[in-house]
Amino acid sequence: METTADGYSWTEAHGTKKGGFKCRGVVFPPERRSSNSTVYDTIVIGAGYAGLAAARDLATSKRSVLLLEARDRVGGRTYTLEDEDGSGFLFEMGGTWVTHHFAYVLKEMTRYNMHQDMIVSQHPGYENDYYTLNIDGVKPRKLSHEEAGQMLRHAWDTFVNVDGDMCRKICPLPHIQLGNSRVDRKEVEKIDKKTCKERLDEIRNLLSTEEVGMLSSLLLIISGGTLEKFSLWDIIRSQALLIHSSLNFADIWSTYKLREGQSALARRMFDEAADFGLEYMFNTQVTSIMDQTRDIGGYVKVTTSNNEVYTARRVICTIPLNVLKTIQFSPPLSAKRQEAINIGHINFMSKIHAVADGPGLASWHGSRFPGKLATGQGDGLTAQGDAHLVAFGGDERKNFTPELEPEKVVAAWNELHPMRIKKTVFHNWCTDPYSNGGPAWWPAEYMSKYQDELQSPFGAISFASGDWAHGWRASIDGALEQGSLCSIRVLRELNNSTKSHNRQTKL
Ligand SMILES: Cc1cc2nc3c(=O)[nH]c(=O)nc-3n(C[C@H](O)[C@H](O)[C@H](O)COP(=O)(O)OP(=O)(O)OC[C@H]3O[C@@H](n4cnc5c(N)ncnc54)[C@H](O)[C@@H]3O)c2cc1C
Repeated sequence: METTADGYSWTEAHGTKKGGFKCRGVVFPPERRSSNSTVYDTIVIGAGYAGLAAARDLATSKRSVLLLEARDRVGGRTYTLEDEDGSGFLFEMGGTWVTHHFAYVLKEMTRYNMHQDMIVSQHPGYENDYYTLNIDGVKPRKLSHEEAGQMLRHAWDTFVNVDGDMCRKICPLPHIQLGNSRVDRKEVEKIDKKTCKERLDEIRNLLSTEEVGMLSSLLLIISGGTLEKFSLWDIIRSQALLIHSSLNFADIWSTYKLREGQSALARRMFDEAADFGLEYMFNTQVTSIMDQTRDIGGYVKVTTSNNEVYTARRVICTIPLNVLKTIQFSPPLSAKRQEAINIGHINFMSKIHAVADGPGLASWHGSRFPGKLATGQGDGLTAQGDAHLVAFGGDERKNFTPELEPEKVVAAWNELHPMRIKKTVFHNWCTDPYSNGGPAWWPAEYMSKYQDELQSPFGAISFASGDWAHGWRASIDGALEQGSLCSIRVLRELNNSTKSHNRQTKL
């Protein structure tokens, strides 16, 4: 198996190591181009799930496609590393948990026969089978998982219940949030102005200090930002996507993983596209996109950092929201889209795996507020029988850079629960120039102002990303949704232009 330059690991003996980890997402050789394809039907930029869905759907429809990807692998913000010890243990570095309730994901899993092969993160029965709660101002304590779950659900339900019906009234159809047959857009826009901090202040007196702390930790790790910026609407749409009940929270959001890892699914999508003639170039960073299709006989020209130019009838750009400001567009994007890009999303989260000595912590879960790592949980056992743990933090960029300050990572883990850490494994999505942050959770009012614009095409360029999906934005499902929708649009446009060309030739 090939190795990727992405990812970090740390051990006390060897310090921090960057890259060199086995990953099924790495494609070798990294380039396949046939010299006669000078004008492609479509260039897809980015080989994350949005780009893979688009490239696969166009290639299997017999369209010529060139996929350009800055990294050495497929999967983007979702990829899997194999443990360096050769045991085959898998670390999910970004997107991880999926469910049969993700419609686009289920379709892909079924297509590649992976829908039955899901494993669970929760492993009860080991020594530390409890929840630790460490909230500023309250004595730290241990609870049962059930008690912690009840407290968190009470806090979440109180927070989210803005319409007295657990968001069924205000967000009945979470894949058409901005107004639909049952809700007027203006009502949604009113709530979209609110931040999570404002909502928390409204209901704070209905919760205990511990509940406020638990809820705050959760909101911070979801948003990867601050409560002052985080849009309340993003929690309302999440509640709707959780089928309007916090009882579904764990099952939908943090239980099921793919046994073979996310990179296995991404790789299958890529391999199918390659079987249908997909051409591709990895380690290829796009710097500018010039749409000349308004000129007679014109095409879209895509330029890379080494000044190579590739030409196509259409482009599907899946570059993440917080990276788009590094791309030069000609003609310039609309003022509104540019404003949205300049503001960007608020997610600067961290996700850090740890291997702790012994199996005990495999059953543990806990949260700490405030804390560099706000929640952590057991997630299985390594081949050596040690607990594999995963923790998440909000925007802590001012307080630590995990790859430069491993001692702070170890300390943050030990503040969640005392442990002897054998190893940490992580990807820093905030210092990564091809993500510049985690998945897109938005600031207040961003959806009302910019969602339609971000989703709309610009001339011959379509924009597909999990960062502005209709439904499961900031998820794998949202990325697949966007890739699928854009490939449908582009296919239709290409088919229409072929038909009109044929008509003209006949005349
Ligand atoms: C830490 C973390 C945890 C997550 N957990 C979950 C989870 O449990 N479940 C879930 O459903 N979702 C989760 N997500 C969200 C999910 O991973 C993303 O929403 C999804 O992967 C985004 O896919 P995408 O194709 O839209 O973008 P990306 O995956 O970011 O793909 C965009 C691609 O464009 C490439 N690119 C960028 N700039 C250029 C350039 N200039 N030239 C060429 N290529 C470029 C990038 O390298 C990348 O490969 C998580 C994300 C993170 C970061």
